[in-house]
Amino acid sequence: MTDTLVALPTPVRDVFDTVQSRNPHEPEFQQAVHEVLESIAPVLEAHPEFVDGGILERIVEPERQIMFRVPWVDDTGRLQVNRGYRVQFSSVLGPYKGGLRFHPSVNLSIIKFLGFEQIFKNALTGQGIGGAKGGSDFDPHGRSDAEIMRFCQSFMSELYRHLGEHTDVPAGDIGVGAREIGYLFGQYRKITNRHESGMFTGKGVQWGGAEVRTEATGYGAVFFVQEMLAVRGSSLEGSRVSVSGSGNVATYAIKKAWQLGATPVTASDSSGYVVDDEGIDVDLLRQIKEVERGRISEYAARRPGARYIEGARPWQVPVDVAIPSATQNELDADDARALIAGGVRAVAEGANMPCTPAAVEAFQAAEVLFAPGKAANAGGVATSALEMSQNASRQRWSFDDSEARLRSIMKDVHDAAFDAAARYGRPGDYVVGANSAGFERVAHAMLAQGVI
Ligand code: NDP
Repeated sequence: MTDTLVALPTPVRDVFDTVQSRNPHEPEFQQAVHEVLESIAPVLEAHPEFVDGGILERIVEPERQIMFRVPWVDDTGRLQVNRGYRVQFSSVLGPYKGGLRFHPSVNLSIIKFLGFEQIFKNALTGQGIGGAKGGSDFDPHGRSDAEIMRFCQSFMSELYRHLGEHTDVPAGDIGVGAREIGYLFGQYRKITNRHESGMFTGKGVQWGGAEVRTEATGYGAVFFVQEMLAVRGSSLEGSRVSVSGSGNVATYAIKKAWQLGATPVTASDSSGYVVDDEGIDVDLLRQIKEVERGRISEYAARRPGARYIEGARPWQVPVDVAIPSATQNELDADDARALIAGGVRAVAEGANMPCTPAAVEAFQAAEVLFAPGKAANAGGVATSALEMSQNASRQRWSFDDSEARLRSIMKDVHDAAFDAAARYGRPGDYVVGANSAGFERVAHAMLAQGVI
């Protein structure tokens, strides 16, 4: 993987070599570090003090990594043991902040890649939050509510000692939605005897949650697309959009695409995808996924004209805009070529790192507007920071007010990435722009706070 780093100064290559040799079984983490190091070369050239100050050596090493046993008893009375993680990557800009993921694929590499990305994403929002990520290899699919509750309680029985509104503030991610957050928060409140609203975000709006947090990541990704298209004098109006996934991010990306005059035509899960040329019916999608906790195949069975394609991803469908919103590395170079051949104009990562490096390269070579996740999906964590503000000041902002704030934050994130790309000689390159703008903020703060 080192080949494209050859042109970089020796200290940068050395840092990546160390990351590889210290973390040999962590391909996703190495991929995320590689992408950042590769794209911040112009920043390091302009700021030799960042290299001299040992910023790189420190930023690739988490401040703290916690791994723990999560024992629980299933409905048949059998003991189950999962592994829990929390990687507290950087608190230089604020308390650790980042979601929890419950999915069987979770391992240390995935949590570290997500935590590393989170540092720069959170910095980009300008909201004063550090970077972290956590989760477990627990699979919530097919589990009863009682099993989910027992698992969440056991998970929090260990994790609570590392959290707090000024220390570390988790949120949801894959497999962790409103139900799980409720159980996790309840257990924290019981163990600590504190109703500490600001220690978790994504809470129910009736008990400390913020309006628009549920919608924020998907809505934010679509706002970001709108900003990118506006730079080219274009808009979403009348365009066809493909979205992957059918969870939190996908659902609200689909909803906002409709609201802005586009037609979202696909949704998916890990078994296959649906294509609906009339446009995805959001109410039916939510009924199947959120209420019934069913599969995306059921959408096609209940919606006249929609088709279900088993075992495939939605990237063969010709569209103007694509918003991959399921999981990492779900869109490869072949998929990118298919989208380009179909006339795609803009791609925004609703998920974290859904496009492989070769796919990103293909989009950029074809001059397709490309927004990396740390910019395009930053609306979720930015709205989490708004939730923390409301908790701290005991206020509640309206839906419209919160959405207006989200919209303005996404414009700021877009402009910060766009301006940084231009400043560092790569106009229109949002990967370089987002990484550079986020990294600059973190690096300045690290220098100011000494060798910690
Ligand atoms: P959800 O659990 O709500 O939904 C995840 C969706 O992705 C489901 O449709 C799921 O299908 C699908 N999926 C999961 N794993 C795979 C896989 N290996 N292959 C194909 N499809 C898969 O998660 P979110 O919507 O919250 O998160 C989606 C992405 O967005 C993640 O990358 C997350 O890190 C990122 N993100 C989320 C934020 C948030 O606020 N929620 C904030 C920023 C980023 P199935 O049911 O079959 O597993």
